[in-house]
Amino acid sequence: MLPVTGNSLDTSNSQEIFRAAQELMPGGVSSPVRAFKSVGGQPIVFDRVKGSYAWDVDGNRYIDYVGSWGPAICGHTHPEVIAALQETLEKGTSFGAPCELENKLAEKVINAVPSVEMVRFVNSGTEACMAVLRLMRAFTGREKVIKFEGCYHGHADMFLVKAGSGVATLGLPDSPGVPRSTTANTLTAPYNDLEAVKELFAENPDAISGVILEPVVGNAGFITPEPGFLEGLRELTKENGALLVFDEVMTGFRISYGGAQARFGVTPDLTTMGKVIGGGLPVGAYGGRADIMSMVAPAGAMYQAGTLSGNPLAMTAGIKTLDLLNQEGTYDRLETTTQRLIKGIVESAKAAGIPITGSSIGGMFGFYLCEGPVRNFEEAKGTDTELFGKLHRAMLEKGVYLAPSAFEAGFTSLAHSEADIDATLQAFEECFASVT
Ligand SMILES: *Cc1c(COP(=O)(O)O)cnc(C)c1O
Repeated sequence: MLPVTGNSLDTSNSQEIFRAAQELMPGGVSSPVRAFKSVGGQPIVFDRVKGSYAWDVDGNRYIDYVGSWGPAICGHTHPEVIAALQETLEKGTSFGAPCELENKLAEKVINAVPSVEMVRFVNSGTEACMAVLRLMRAFTGREKVIKFEGCYHGHADMFLVKAGSGVATLGLPDSPGVPRSTTANTLTAPYNDLEAVKELFAENPDAISGVILEPVVGNAGFITPEPGFLEGLRELTKENGALLVFDEVMTGFRISYGGAQARFGVTPDLTTMGKVIGGGLPVGAYGGRADIMSMVAPAGAMYQAGTLSGNPLAMTAGIKTLDLLNQEGTYDRLETTTQRLIKGIVESAKAAGIPITGSSIGGMFGFYLCEGPVRNFEEAKGTDTELFGKLHRAMLEKGVYLAPSAFEAGFTSLAHSEADIDATLQAFEECFASVT
């Protein structure tokens, strides 16, 4: 453990459970970043969550800014979501046959997200991105794809190149087990760099199926697109007969009801979704232009399937969550909460003489402990990760749960109250003063 001031938090049950977990599961976790490797110390084992709070197995309460990495946008265990789930549960958890709830969620997604005319449900963001990549290749008859350094599109082979947070956090360059022949078709460019994309198109004529990106990057910290970047990609892809794909697994229903594409007014050909769309249950989706989506089996020849896909339980959580979000003023409220939070964080770091740059959009925020601006992953690496580790531990001690990596965005929810933000900012002020 890192030395911290006021180390008063009793996490002995967490430590005991995590010790056992490490002998049962690789690294003691079901997903790498949860292991706290990049911030030091032991992970906290959760017992229950409610609203803006999480309680650990030692009974400590935290104001939660991870929100299960995005899904908990209405607050954890929202009573209306839970009630709807309980009702659905009685009728069965999985049919393996069509169910009307799929139509209901599909209609909501199609109405909300500008690019989506048809949608296919899957079980995770990784699955959605993997499938959309196959669809890009099937539709264009081309094999290469352009992605950006620091963007994460799930853990499918072809995307594990300069893949952002999880990989960056652990310092793994690329993953063993990913065939070189696969990633040979993955071209990468720095984020916010249209010239680099132009060059890749010029160097690979008629070979690039499309460009995929996080329209706001949340897997390399928090990076926003510079004015003209998304528009430029839209033009470049059109000119070159390639598809534009927004990976909105994180930004979808989080930075506006229609995602980044509605917020920035740039419509891609295809979109992937996850996280919020499942309201805390495993759901991913990909969708887009009807002529492209019609290639997906059984309407078309591109194969993709899933035993549990579109199951009634998951659909219910998604439907109820989108209903809660699609109400007057929800995104204004999220925006206000998040802006106040990031403004306060930046101010108290500066007051403590710590270099910082930070911003927010909708219910998503992030900061780097370095002088800004940060426009791409290379610049993001300038953040002081050691200092962030200390800050993270100190904030835990004060009952604030931040993402355990300097390269992850933070998330707020509709359940985060003014008092939560006040308490959080108070904690930041004290912690910034103590870690220097
Ligand atoms: C989380 C995420 C994924 C992967 O989704 P999983 O549900 O974890 O498989 C893909 N793309 C982006 C942008 C993400 O944030």
